[in-house]
Amino acid sequence: MNRRTVDVLVVGAGPAGLAVATALAGTGAGSVEVLEREQETGGVPRHCDRGGFGLRDLRRPMSGPTYARHRTAAALRAGAVLRTGVMVTGWAGPLTVETTSRTGLEQLSARAVVLATGARERPRSARLVPGDRPAGVYTTGELQQAVHLYGQRVGERALIVGAGPVARATVGTLRRAGVEPVALVTEEPGLLPRPGLRRPVPVLTGTAVTALHGRGRLTGVALRRHDGGTAVVACDTVVFTGDWIPEHELARTAGIALDAGTRGPAVDASFRTARPGVFAVGNVLHGVETAGAAALEGRRAAVRVRRFLDDGRWPEVRVPLVTEGALRWAAPNLFAPGDAGTRLLLRAERRIVRPVLTVTQDGRLLHRERLLRTAGPERSLVVPARWAGRVDGDGGAVRICLGQGYG
Ligand SMILES: Cc1cc2nc3c(=O)[nH]c(=O)nc-3n(C[C@H](O)[C@H](O)[C@H](O)COP(=O)(O)OP(=O)(O)OC[C@H]3O[C@@H](n4cnc5c(N)ncnc54)[C@H](O)[C@@H]3O)c2cc1C
Repeated sequence: MNRRTVDVLVVGAGPAGLAVATALAGTGAGSVEVLEREQETGGVPRHCDRGGFGLRDLRRPMSGPTYARHRTAAALRAGAVLRTGVMVTGWAGPLTVETTSRTGLEQLSARAVVLATGARERPRSARLVPGDRPAGVYTTGELQQAVHLYGQRVGERALIVGAGPVARATVGTLRRAGVEPVALVTEEPGLLPRPGLRRPVPVLTGTAVTALHGRGRLTGVALRRHDGGTAVVACDTVVFTGDWIPEHELARTAGIALDAGTRGPAVDASFRTARPGVFAVGNVLHGVETAGAAALEGRRAAVRVRRFLDDGRWPEVRVPLVTEGALRWAAPNLFAPGDAGTRLLLRAERRIVRPVLTVTQDGRLLHRERLLRTAGPERSLVVPARWAGRVDGDGGAVRICLGQGYG
């Protein structure tokens, strides 16, 4: 088996991993190598063949594939080594990974490892939707790859599970592939903000998918409304959107603690996991955000990686952040001493207009405010944690709660 050593090893060449590598390479950090299991770099944007990328981080609009090429070129220009078709399969030491590729097995050691493995949508099996295993069942990622990367024919009529931004992107992908979107279905109750589609699609709220019908090919999807009513929608395609799960396998096999809310590795504001020298960044931390948010996180993480390469310091004790009330998760989810300027991403499990945020530690109120925005399951709130400097590093967990009123 081949054995090599580099200074910084980045796993995953999506927007986050490429941004870390770009910001680190050529700045005295030594050799920076990015490993990508796909045959091309760029991550998810490679198959998001529509506009809407680059605005936040590059200040210019571009399509997903153009954005992926742009980020790849920037990393190469900076001097990073990008290797594709290389899957990181496990660990051979605290900072040594095992890889497999066409050229065989390798062990690669580094002074710092950055996990930037992204997130995926939970497929039908993980959502426990019963039925046979007919053709025509996709997640958005699978649909986009089929349509944009492989030019495959999809079907005639599609039901979309979910009603968030990714579900709307799915409507566009289906229409471009000549498939009629028949409805968006979501368990969320009540009226949702209008999906903002040029040609509207019916949105069935308060409705769950209970079964898939069809053997060789999907013939229909069984639905149940919250009031008990049932129906079967005839369609040959169903796309499960949203419900993201971080690609956390490498963190798990390393024994790195995961956060119960995000299900990604728990990190502090410097993107440091529980294992000294291992950082994590991008969607692996919290499920889907925009590509620009992932790249900006990558840029911020690079500064912290660089600092670690210089001083080797890693905090021994950190205070966990626990979510309560309507909060599904918060990231980062550990507080290290000196984490004063933290920005928290917060994701709620239901829509709350102008929610109240309360932060306590050991019964002590650290902060309370009414936020002027609407919280919801599809989009994160970004909240500056100006109170972070008041967290007692020797105290118990910090509790953060999102609710309707002051309670
Ligand atoms: C349908 C859809 C539409 C979107 N639309 C927009 C939009 O309009 N604008 C926008 O800004 N964002 C959009 N996004 C979000 C954006 O694509 C993601 O936020 C971004 O790609 C996250 O970057 P990342 O680097 O964290 O992860 P990813 O892009 O997922 O990259 C992770 C990479 O890691 C690799 N990897 C994982 N495990 C391993 C391993 N063990 N070994 C080697 N490699 C590994 C994967 O192959 C992948 O290439 C959209 C996403 C989807 C799904």
